[in-house]
Amino acid sequence: MTVLDGKAVAKKVRDEVKARAEAFAAAHGRKPGLHVVLVGDDPASQVYVRNKERAAAKAGLEGQVHRLPGDTTQADLEALVAKLNADPAIDGILVQLPLPGHLEAQPVLDAIDPSKDVDGLTALNAGLLVDGRDGLRPCTPSGCMRLIEETGADLTGQRALVIGRSVLVGKPVALMLLARNATVTIAHSRTADLEARVRESDIVVAAVGRPEMVRGEWIKEDAIVLDVGINRTDEGKLVGDVEYAAAAERAGWITPVPGGVGPMTIAMLLGNTVTAAERREARGPRGGR
Ligand code: NDP
Repeated sequence: MTVLDGKAVAKKVRDEVKARAEAFAAAHGRKPGLHVVLVGDDPASQVYVRNKERAAAKAGLEGQVHRLPGDTTQADLEALVAKLNADPAIDGILVQLPLPGHLEAQPVLDAIDPSKDVDGLTALNAGLLVDGRDGLRPCTPSGCMRLIEETGADLTGQRALVIGRSVLVGKPVALMLLARNATVTIAHSRTADLEARVRESDIVVAAVGRPEMVRGEWIKEDAIVLDVGINRTDEGKLVGDVEYAAAAERAGWITPVPGGVGPMTIAMLLGNTVTAAERREARGPRGGR
């Protein structure tokens, strides 16, 4: 068994991003710009946004956070997104979720210019993924695929199981595995006999949010196991959706929690921002789609 070390791979990705950001700045006289919108004072979101801000600066990006009060109106939030869309020096826009209860997330996400949608959550980018065309891909699924690349495995004809069907993780990662010619099954809360599906799978991506629900003994010998889940136990410990110690005895490759998929997400976000910047400059000064 080999541990898929997300921290080490994320560092590699961040180094690559930094080199690309420097080349971009040398060619265009400005750094790629990532702007994050944070509404309200949710403590977890504040930590995530601070981490993104720091990582952006370290990777040679121009990063800015727009902190809006918790009682911001839908119209004011959408007006800010429109302003960021119109600014040619901004390449990536990310609206930190969840938004306070009185705001609707979907219209805000839909308002983001798809060429600046570094979270890959607009309908256009989702459609481009379905169609197998170039677009900005969601960060956590891209991080999963990058980790799978590290194994050197050819996914052609392999049986892949994605547990979870969210727009953020499950669905996009399933499409990405399909694009690599895996035979993909998507499991969810209504799936019958999850154990049997796991037992037959060469690749398992667990994105549920239930502590250690995938038992180690279900894992097929030598399978690749990616654990997206982040769960805090009553004792305050972080665990994934997979029973790690027992699964590690059977898997060929496995991601730990923490230190697996988690660190990849921000690294892929930085990569998306540089990609968005490069593509926008290649399309001309107005940065159209
Ligand atoms: P969601 O809550 O949006 O989706 C969870 C999915 O799991 C749903 O599709 C649900 O099915 C399915 N599910 C629930 N119970 C079961 C069950 N008993 N058996 C099989 N499937 C089940 O979560 P997300 O996709 O947003 O996130 C999943 C996990 O990944 C969370 O722990 C989250 O914290 C973590 N995460 C980690 C990230 C990272 O950077 N590492 C980034 C994003 C998320 P149904 O559709 O039927 O309800």
